[in-house]
Amino acid sequence: MIRTDSHLHTSFSSDSDTPMEEMVLAAILAGMESICFTEHVDPDFPDTEEPLSFMIDFDRYEAECQRLKAKYSDRICLLHGIELGIQPHLGQDCAEIYARYGDRYDFIIHSTHVVDRLDPYYGAYFAAYDDPKAAIRNYFQVMLKNLQVFRDYQTVGHLDYICRYEPAPRTPFVYDDYKEVIDPVLLHIIEEDKCLEVNTAGWKYGMEDPNPNRQILKRYRELGGRKITIGSDGHAPNQLAYDYHRLPDFLKELGFDSYLFFEKKEPREIPL
Ligand SMILES: [Zn+2]
Ligand SMILES: [Zn+2]
Repeated sequence: MIRTDSHLHTSFSSDSDTPMEEMVLAAILAGMESICFTEHVDPDFPDTEEPLSFMIDFDRYEAECQRLKAKYSDRICLLHGIELGIQPHLGQDCAEIYARYGDRYDFIIHSTHVVDRLDPYYGAYFAAYDDPKAAIRNYFQVMLKNLQVFRDYQTVGHLDYICRYEPAPRTPFVYDDYKEVIDPVLLHIIEEDKCLEVNTAGWKYGMEDPNPNRQILKRYRELGGRKITIGSDGHAPNQLAYDYHRLPDFLKELGFDSYLFFEKKEPREIPL
């Protein structure tokens, strides 16, 4: 069984109300060896119906992580990082955040949540397009720009995040429809020697695959990608290590034999 989770949120993220200590206790109970908190940091997040800032109090976050690390050091290895939400105009802002706080973190996830001032989580993004495929294509084009403007990260989060929110009826995903926009993203990740995250929230959202889906993971392997990280993107204790039992067979079938886990930004390779 996989006993690490490198993508977790608690009440330091504005879309979770789970106290961090509750998540730690759930992880101990679940027999996890190590977990890494990756709270949301999304500078310049657009206004939403429910006002969410997606920024953290960096110092309070640090203090609570250190307190819990010390308290539970004999029971679990606690790590912490951030999930940084990038937009093409935020290169400088993200560089400033990294210069100020980056040293504290074990692990940074590079995520694209906001495209053209809209988070696809809300309906307005897809509503702006007649063709959902065009909306999805645009997401990957923006992601490539985001990867170019900020490079101090270890893994790329939920690469096909956009597909979670395509309104019904969803058209079946066919890689060839998006090849010209996803191939450059995958090649960029490989050339930069970064990792691709396998995020089991896809299963939580009732999708057939984790994020990204098997066609994207297969293509990543074909292009020479080997490095993956694994996380549940859990926002509540019952989402920790979500559906992890499905992962080893799923990933081995696609040609992966190990995954990486980062401590102080140094990778540890763990066989599947
Ligand atoms: Zn995310
Ligand atoms: Zn997340």
